[in-house]
Amino acid sequence: EEPAAALAVPQAPDPRLLLLGRVGTVDPAGLDDYRAHGGYTALRRAFALGPAGVIREVTDSGLLGRGGAAFPTGRKWQATASQPDHPHYLVCNADESEPGTFKDRVLMEGDPYALVEAMTVAAYATGARHGYLYLRGEYPRALVRMEHAITQARARGLLGDDILGQGFSFDVEIRRGAGAYICGEETALFNSIEGFRGEPRSKPPFPVEKGLFGKPTVANNVETLVNVLPILTLGAQAYAAIGTGASTGPKLFCVSGSVARPGIYELPFGATLGELLTLAGVRDGLRAVLLGGAAGGFVRPDELDIPLTFEGTREAGTTLGSGVVMAFDDTVPLPRLLLRIAEFFRDESCGQCVPCRVGTVRQEEALHRIAARTGADAAADITLLREVGRAMRDASICGLGQTAWNAVESAIDRLGAYE
Ligand code: NAD
Ligand code: SF4
Repeated sequence: EEPAAALAVPQAPDPRLLLLGRVGTVDPAGLDDYRAHGGYTALRRAFALGPAGVIREVTDSGLLGRGGAAFPTGRKWQATASQPDHPHYLVCNADESEPGTFKDRVLMEGDPYALVEAMTVAAYATGARHGYLYLRGEYPRALVRMEHAITQARARGLLGDDILGQGFSFDVEIRRGAGAYICGEETALFNSIEGFRGEPRSKPPFPVEKGLFGKPTVANNVETLVNVLPILTLGAQAYAAIGTGASTGPKLFCVSGSVARPGIYELPFGATLGELLTLAGVRDGLRAVLLGGAAGGFVRPDELDIPLTFEGTREAGTTLGSGVVMAFDDTVPLPRLLLRIAEFFRDESCGQCVPCRVGTVRQEEALHRIAARTGADAAADITLLREVGRAMRDASICGLGQTAWNAVESAIDRLGAYE
């Protein structure tokens, strides 16, 4: 596919949209158009602030990681920047694979230079000279657009040596995933870049200390990095005034399923689940909403007042994760849906540790048995599922095994899936 100059729509960006404002309004292949829409203002501000000043702004903004785990970005950047060991690496995790997550794809396809600029800011702040963009293999259009943006930025002195004459050098290399969900786990991703099997490493040590090639590495999700641009252009204080005290700024929500208008929605943190579903046109007969993807959990239609914040979803006993909101109406057979989720985890387990390798198989088998019988016979298998789920959660090496039982557990406990 050609870089899509033809797709650019000549209309003004919506100023209320800090992340999606340029998507659909800027030419994704045009560096000059990106600059005409405010591009590279943040990098200039970063150079004016200096690396420590940028980290201070990001810390003061309250930005929490948007990949799903909500770790404070400023803390991560500070921890990497202060490591005496060199070189430092920057890794942008664009291996977006959580079922129902497609926000990073939209950002990369619609506003690719924003990610290039944000990666440059992050590298400048954390002392990295080399960055990797680890891109999901199933995103061919994002690949074309990111490759084009990186090439153009390099040709125009915005990547490479002495960027904007500021004596700072940085470049980006793209590495593509090959379809393994586990390679989105940051340490499996490092192994993949290094040419090893995509198996997670035990943490700690955290990547900020020993990451890619054993060196200090800052690994950030695409949406996290793109948030740094409005933080620098608006200032930390103005950014932190958006959202709630504990979840600051805007958030992208990926809405799919039984809604009239599926897609990406940018809202300030704090809107309720019900408000988001109303925007998306929720259909009659809503049976359940899956928050946070397959690794997340189900909530009921009477729980739509849950605030869409990290703290609000936690208090409600669920998770926001990467912003997945999947609606299911009563035409969707729940047992089949749960089996599909179990199948997914069994398939994607890397097999390195026993609780996950065996547990995901036992979980799927039990769900098959339950689906094949009547509700009354399910009790023993539900007890077994709880035991297997606890073992996976407590003893798995990485998040995949630790969360593989979340959705099934919530379907049993919150939805009464097999009653
Ligand atoms: P995690 O909590 O282990 O770590 C989150 C981030 O913080 C990592 O970068 C980690 O290195 C860093 N970190 C944590 N403690 C640290 C410390 N003390 N010092 C320095 N850095 C520290 O979570 P994780 O396993 O990386 O990610 C799990 C999340 O990933 C889940 O919430 C899930 O929603 C999400 N996820 C997202 C996708 C997607 O496609 N976006 C796919 C699968 C999972
Ligand atoms: Fe691999 Fe699962 Fe263990 Fe993670 S929890 S290391 S995916 S086997």
